[in-house]
Parts: sequence; C-alpha cells; structure tokens
Amino acid sequence: MNKRLFLLPATLMMMGSIQTEAQQQSIASPDGKLLVEVDNRPEGITYSVTYDQKPMLLPSALGVVTNNDDFGKALTLKDTQTRTIDHTYQLRQAKATDIHYQANELTMSFASAKGFPMDIVFRVSNNDVAFRYQFDRKDGVSCMTVTGEHTAFRLPEQTTTFICPQSDAMGGWMRTKPSYEEEYKPDAPMDTRSAYGQGYTFPCLFHLGNDGWVMVSETGTRGQYVGCHLSDYDAARGYTIAFPMEGESNGFGGTMAGMPLPCSTPWRTITTGTSLKPIVETTVAFDVVEPVYEPKHDYKTGRYTWSWLVWQDNSINYDDQVAFIDVAAAMGYEYCLVDACWDTNIGREGIERLSKYAQEKGVALMLWYNSNGAWNDAPQSPFHRMDKSAPRREEMAWMERIGVKGIKVDFFGGDKQHTMQLYEDILADANDFGLQVIFHGCTLPRGWERMFPNFVGSEAVLASENTYFTEYHAQQEGFQLTMHPFCRNAVASMDWGGTIMNRYMSKDNKSRHRRFTSDTFEMAASIVNQCAIQCIAMQPNNLTDIPQFERDFLRTVPTQWLETRLLDGYPGRYVVLARRSKEGWIVAGLNATTEPLTLELPMPMGARKAVTIYDDAAAKKGALWPESRMREGKTDKSGNLKLTIQPNGGIIVK
Ligand code: CA
Repeated sequence: MNKRLFLLPATLMMMGSIQTEAQQQSIASPDGKLLVEVDNRPEGITYSVTYDQKPMLLPSALGVVTNNDDFGKALTLKDTQTRTIDHTYQLRQAKATDIHYQANELTMSFASAKGFPMDIVFRVSNNDVAFRYQFDRKDGVSCMTVTGEHTAFRLPEQTTTFICPQSDAMGGWMRTKPSYEEEYKPDAPMDTRSAYGQGYTFPCLFHLGNDGWVMVSETGTRGQYVGCHLSDYDAARGYTIAFPMEGESNGFGGTMAGMPLPCSTPWRTITTGTSLKPIVETTVAFDVVEPVYEPKHDYKTGRYTWSWLVWQDNSINYDDQVAFIDVAAAMGYEYCLVDACWDTNIGREGIERLSKYAQEKGVALMLWYNSNGAWNDAPQSPFHRMDKSAPRREEMAWMERIGVKGIKVDFFGGDKQHTMQLYEDILADANDFGLQVIFHGCTLPRGWERMFPNFVGSEAVLASENTYFTEYHAQQEGFQLTMHPFCRNAVASMDWGGTIMNRYMSKDNKSRHRRFTSDTFEMAASIVNQCAIQCIAMQPNNLTDIPQFERDFLRTVPTQWLETRLLDGYPGRYVVLARRSKEGWIVAGLNATTEPLTLELPMPMGARKAVTIYDDAAAKKGALWPESRMREGKTDKSGNLKLTIQPNGGIIVK
C-alpha cells in the first residue's frame, strides 16, 4: 500500500490554516496491474487510473453537490482504511453463474468545509474499478438532496468512442423517450457533439488505441438515486456524470436525488484491459451490489414465443395466441408472451382460459403491461395497473392464481428518482406473486440481476422491433448485434426481442422488406445475445418452412450460462463468443462486415474434439441469402478450429 502525504506551499498560502496539504492515496488490483490514484487538494479532488502503467483515465474530478455542502472541494482527509475483498456468489440470469470476486478496497473518509462527513470507497479488481460516495448523519441532519456530481471521466487524447446518445425528453413515439433506444456510433472522436446534445447513456465504451479499452458504467441504482448518464465531452473536464433531464416524466418530479442518512450513491464502474476480453467478460455490475431481497419462488430461465414482433397488434386475439402457445409447445419453450391490449382484445376471462390451455401444453404465459401512470401518451392498455401498489398487487395476485409466470412492463418515464423507485417496487411486489419481470421502453438495468432475483432482462436497446419497422434497421442488424456484446449486453441482460427466422418482415413471409442476415446468423444470435428468458421469435410457419436441423438447434438453445468467454471480435464488425451451459460449451459468431471472415480460433472444448458446426455456404450469385448447413468437424491437436463466417452470416460450434 502506497500512502503519501506531503506539503504543497502554494495551497498552504491559499487556504490558510485549516487544510494545508495535498493528500494522495493509491490502491492497486490484486495482480497489481490496475492502479487508482487519488489526489485531494483544496481546489478539488481527483482520481486517475492506469493499467500496466498506461493511462486509462487522466486526473478526473470526484465529488457530489448536495444541499448540505459541496463535497467536491476543500475536503479534509480524516482517515483511510484498506481491506481485501474475496467472495463468491451465484447468479441465475447473467453471463456466468458461479462468480469469484477478489478486490482491494480503499475507503477515504473526508470532512467537508462545513464539517459534514463523506467517504469515497474504491474497489479495484484485476480489470475493474468501482467507486461510490457514502454519507453519514451530522448534528441531527439525517437527510440530504444530491443536486449534481463533479464525478468525471477524462480519457486520453487518442481515445475514440463507441457510445449511444441520450435522447431528448418526451420525444419519440407518443412522447415515450428517453428509453435507451438510440444508435451507437463506432470509432467516433470524443469532441463530436452527441446527437441530441444530452450526452450519452451507459454503458460507454472507449478505445484507447494501442493502449486498450475502457468501459464506463454504473451499478446499484434503485429507488435511492437517479439514473445517471454521461454529459457531452468537455476538453477540460472530460465526460461528467449527468442527472436526468427536467422534461422527463412530462416534467413531473425533480432531477435530484433525495437520500436518507446514512446512505450511499450507486457505484460508478470502469472496466479496463489491453484487449476487449475483460470488457465482454466483466461481472463488475454484479460484483459490488447485494441482493435487495431473497427469491420467494423458484424462478426458471427459458425461451419465449412472441406474436407481436411480426404479426403485430392484430395478433392479440385468442386464436392467434393459441397458435403461438402451440409453437412454444412444439419447440419445448417454457413461455409465451401476450403483448399489449390483451385486456380489451381477449379479456380477463379469455386470458384465464388461455393460461389454462398454455399450462396443459407445458407453457406459461407472460403478460404485457403499460407502466403508466402520467408520464407519456402510449395508448396501449392495460394501464394504471403497475404504477401504484394496491392495483398492482391485486393484478399480480390474479396472475398468480391463474398460473401466469411473468410480466413485461413497457413505456417508462425516464431516469428520475421516482421512476427508479417504480422499477424497484414492481420487482419487489412481483416477487411476492412468483412473477419474473422484463422491462421494455426503459432504462438500463444497473446490477438488477443480482439485486432483484426475479428480474430477467430489459430492452434498453434499439431492438428487433426496429428490424420489423424499417428496412434501414433491418440492414443495421449485423452492426447492432456485433456491437452489443462489447457494451450494452456486457453490463446487463438484454431483451433484444427475438431471433427472427422469417426471411421477410411479414406474416406471409413474402411481403414487406427482407431480413438481411443469414439463418445461421439468427441462430447464433440466440447464443450471442444474453437474456435469461430469451425470445425466439419462431412463427407458426417456421415449424415447416425452415430446415429441420435449424428447428432442432433452436429447440436446444440454452438460457442459463455457467461461463462466458470472448474468443475474438471488434465492436460493430464481428464477434465470436464461447458460452458454457450445463450441456457444455457452445461457440457462436456473427460477421457484420461485407467480406467473408476466416478465423482460426482456440475452441474451449479442447484438442481433437468432435464438434458439430453450423455455418453458411458462400452465397450463390444472385441469391439473397447464403445456404445454412450443419456438418461435423474436429478441433486440431492444439484445440483450434478454422472457421469462415459469411457476410451477415453466423457460425455455431458445439
Ligand atoms: Ca421498445
């Protein structure tokens, strides 16, 4: 441990007698490669991060602004403590199951100018830094309002960005934004203004050229705080923590966070590495949070069918839902999602019959709800059932009685504290009634897989519905699904909303625009995209119009992962992941470029192992799609396998 105190005469003269010294502390990861250095001076407190002695974050501001005091300058360091953290835990709904977290922790205890206490806690594991602010009572003051933060992230000059803009408030369809459904730009310079001038949503990925990669995010946010994002870039300060916009939730509710004392802010996380491997494999979003409550029921991961993606609004009727329950049953899937307006189109009595029919076929229903409320104009019902406790619990008791096992709640109002509290309240109530929860039109989940054991996944991505809506987004699918493993899906489960086997975005599978990806790409996407209840958007026609071996594969898609490894890739271009389920390893790759990609990669199965390979033959001249195929192969004596992934194609090895 490196502890240094030394005098700075200039600041001594400036500040007089109270605070006379620059105070520096540092904390390194267990392997010693990742180092955080904190420098407290009267004019401000900063931290910097290096990995293997290369700068990952330049000195960047720390501190928060509250109604008790400004905790960003004139801080006096009172005490420092260090300890090692070494614990294991299990996760059911994320990229890995048995997780071992080892970190060194530094707690720096400060007094503000007015004498209020604040701790800054850093946890440093081999590739992740997490830090948060902790506050305590003073002289009977037992509450506090946080109006903003000094917290900043200054990246080195050569950095390029892979970040997603925050939208304006109350924009988009029926004034439902922000809902984390904007477009990532790859390899952009830092000083480009964000698309709406509102900064960027977490997680944010940065490429430091030859020095490596940095991903910045936050975790542990629940009803105690607001959901934050990053500001636009400022040459002097870097990116700073930004609070919700005033206009969110139709202007209702403040942009600040009200906290009882003692309290902690969410953790800010910085994942670093010389390659992308630590970014894709990180579990820091879960490592530093704790379960908010224990599971009251035995929750099961699984797959779901979803009529709305292709058959759209008209499919929310009894007979069409029977058709999609039958698809789920034929595929051995556990769930079928009934989307919006089931209350008016099918009716509650109809849903009870439908749920009984589904259960007889071994399928459980999940039901869609509008989160509204008073925060947007989304007209789909049922609404006013999830925004308050009494109707919500009445609704959930009914669902439990009729055997419904999950809800999808859509169209939230932004990141203000009352909305973060609503997410928490829905999850906590749902746990009483055995319901797993998927959020759409929503914020990024921040550690929720571990905090809330019945949380499954969130949209918070420009998801598959857009592939249906426009040809442009259908063309973007390859870019999207090779971007998210390195960013959005690296920090939280992502409900992309479906592997699509229809080649045209229509019920008849002939009209409207086409799908641009190969069948193997779509099958591999069901492995690359991680969500514990995974949508496989099989259509009734897919039971007969796709090859038998594709259907057989899709029947076996695992959803609980013991382990995840990045084998190769570059954000927005291609990705090859290995995931292990209790059935063994499965490797899945996607190529979003316009050229065939040949890679020789080490297979996690080991040397001289017989494997089954799903890939695409090179597209025949004039053909819109390459032909998918299944064949047997073998890893070589070093455990390597040579793979070719066609443009907009995929590969699976198992
Ligand atoms: Ca959406």
